Amino acid sequence: MNRKRNILLLATGGTIASMISEHGLKPGLDAEQLLSFIPEIREECQVDSIQVCNIDSTNMKPEIWRQIVCAVEAKYLYYDGFVICHGTDTMAYTSAALSYMILNSNKPVVITGSQKPISEDSTDARQNLIDSIRYAADPDSRGVVLVFNGSVIAGTRAKKTYAHSYNAFSSVNFPPIATIQERKIIRFIPQQPFTQPVHFVHDLNDSVVVLKLIPGTKPELVEYLFQNYDCLVIESFGVGGIPQNLLDVFYTQMEQWISRGKIVVMATQVTNEGSNMEVYEVGQKVKEDFHLMEAYDMTLEATITKLMVLMGTCGGSYTAICDGFYKTVNYDILSR
Ligand code: ASP
Repeated sequence: MNRKRNILLLATGGTIASMISEHGLKPGLDAEQLLSFIPEIREECQVDSIQVCNIDSTNMKPEIWRQIVCAVEAKYLYYDGFVICHGTDTMAYTSAALSYMILNSNKPVVITGSQKPISEDSTDARQNLIDSIRYAADPDSRGVVLVFNGSVIAGTRAKKTYAHSYNAFSSVNFPPIATIQERKIIRFIPQQPFTQPVHFVHDLNDSVVVLKLIPGTKPELVEYLFQNYDCLVIESFGVGGIPQNLLDVFYTQMEQWISRGKIVVMATQVTNEGSNMEVYEVGQKVKEDFHLMEAYDMTLEATITKLMVLMGTCGGSYTAICDGFYKTVNYDILSR
C-alpha cells in the first residue's frame, strides 16, 4: 500500500477562520480548529499544521509573505505538499507573490479560503479545504496554485472577480490548470517537473505604487508618485496610453527617473486580453520615448508582486529587472 502523503497546513486567518463578533466577522479559529471541521481528510493523508498569523487578509503585507515563505522553506523537506488558508480579499496578491518567491517547486503550494466561515452550515470552506489538501497530496501536482470552488488556477493568473459568490476567482488570460470533481483531479494543463532546484526568495522592495488613471487625472499627483516611489505602475485605459495633459509632467519626471534606475510599467484597467501600447499614437510614442515596460497579459496582482521581487533581487539593475519582468514564471506572461 502507498504511504499516506504528508501535508502541512499553514493558517493565516480570513473568512474561512472567522467567527461572529460584535463588530462583524473576525478571524479567530486556528489551524487545528479548521482541520477539526474536516476529520475525514486525515484518513487520506497525514496533515500537520502551523499558524502563521490570524488576520483579515485586508491586513496582508509583504512582511507576512516573507514569513509564509520562511515557514514553507523550513519544513520543505518534511512534507509532500503545502496548503495555505487565506482570506479571499488579497489571496490573488499572495498567490502571485508566492509564485515569484517559491520557484521551481515540485511540491505543490496551494492557497485557498472561502466566502463563508467554516463553522457555518452552508459554507464553501469545507469543500475548498478538502479539495486543496487532495490537490496538494497528488503526486502530479506542483508549483503555486490557488484552489477555489473546484477550480485550480495558476498562482499568477488568479483574480477575485466576485465579492459574494462561491466562484469568487477567475483565471485571467489563461485557462484553469485543472478542475476537481468529487475526488477526481482533471488536469487541463499537465505540469512538467521542474529540472532546477527549488529556490526561495526573501528579498522584496515594496516601493511600488499603482496609479489608476481616470479622465482628468491631475499632473500634481503624478509628480508626487514619481518622486516618492521606486516603481510606478500606471493602470491606463484600454490597450494603454498616457493622456495629453500628463505628458509634460511625464517628460520632466522620466528624465530624472531613468538615470536613477526607477521603473515605470504600463498596465490596463481592462481585465481581459491585456495591454498593447503599439496600437495607438497615445501609447506608441510614449513607450518609445520613455522605454516603458508593459504588463501585456499579466494580471495587476502578478505585475506588482513580480516587480517587488525583481526590485528586491536584481541589485538595482534596470536591464536585469526588465529581462526578468518579461520572463515567464508560473504562466504569468504569454502574449508579449
Ligand atoms: N475580508 C476577508 C479576508 O480577506 C474576506 C474573505 O476571506 O473572504 O480576510
